[in-house]
Amino acid sequence: MIAVVGSLNLDLVAPVPHHPVPGETVLGGDIVQHPGGKGANQAVAAARLGGEVAFVGRVGDDAAADVLVDAARAQGVDTTHIRRTESVPTGRALIAVNPHGENSIIVSPGANSRLTAADCEAAWSPLGAAKVTVLQQEVPDSANHAAARLAGGLVLYNPAPAVDGAVPPVSVDLLVPNRTELAALTGTPEAGTVEEIVAAARKLSGAGAVVVTLGGDGVLLLEGRSSLHIPAFAVTPTDTTGAGDSFCGALAVALAEDRTLEQAARWACAAAAISTTRTGAQPSSPTRDEVEEFLAA
Ligand code: ADP
Repeated sequence: MIAVVGSLNLDLVAPVPHHPVPGETVLGGDIVQHPGGKGANQAVAAARLGGEVAFVGRVGDDAAADVLVDAARAQGVDTTHIRRTESVPTGRALIAVNPHGENSIIVSPGANSRLTAADCEAAWSPLGAAKVTVLQQEVPDSANHAAARLAGGLVLYNPAPAVDGAVPPVSVDLLVPNRTELAALTGTPEAGTVEEIVAAARKLSGAGAVVVTLGGDGVLLLEGRSSLHIPAFAVTPTDTTGAGDSFCGALAVALAEDRTLEQAARWACAAAAISTTRTGAQPSSPTRDEVEEFLAA
């Protein structure tokens, strides 16, 4: 089993002719809403790949809560440990997209910010039984630290979104940052070359292994003193939003199936590459059959 502790957000996406400046009202196009939040995206990615996934999180007591819980459940995620929070709105992301495809985003964490260590303790049974527990940085550190402490198996920590000065739980087995998140974690400028990335990742003492995702350049794996670069699969991306979430979900599934870190990272690169060829975060995640077909082609 895989336990994912994290956020659920309703993403509200509006096309705008340009981004508003302070004091300005801009008339946008029709709003489109998608289920999102890094936690939910990673849980859905893992479930679509055949993982048995239990989610620990919080939603509010509004209609958005039903949309998000139903969406996760429809993809096979066990939503029993998602708690409703009275008088608090469900997390939402307000996303304005201009004609050049550039986003400006306001995230209102709402109920996600109310997730507590006690919630994780109450969800001890999935956390204790999970082979892999997956964490990100869209819920309070106190909840993540409690989950990492309670986790019975391997703890995968995706330090996203980047938060300067964030401190991952001590008992993390595997850190999965992208370039920006690696810079935020290590307090160093964003690394460019492979050597710079290796040097920055080596500063992350405590973590058993580090997998740095490098977008179209693939991933860099660090285990002990050894490092390995795995190139990305060649695809023509249409929307790379959520590639990191697909990667983390797939990595968790492969590790829960006892693949080595290198095998798991290659498989997750395939899942993430497929996700970049489709739009949307949760719907872009491939199924297991799609990954196997892609690898066999
Ligand atoms: P994030 O979405 O968190 O910024 P990345 O952009 O590093 O994460 O992408 C995560 C993974 O998705 C990469 O390690 C790679 O395997 C895959 N990926 C992302 N962009 C591409 C691309 N252009 N072509 C192929 N694979 C990609």
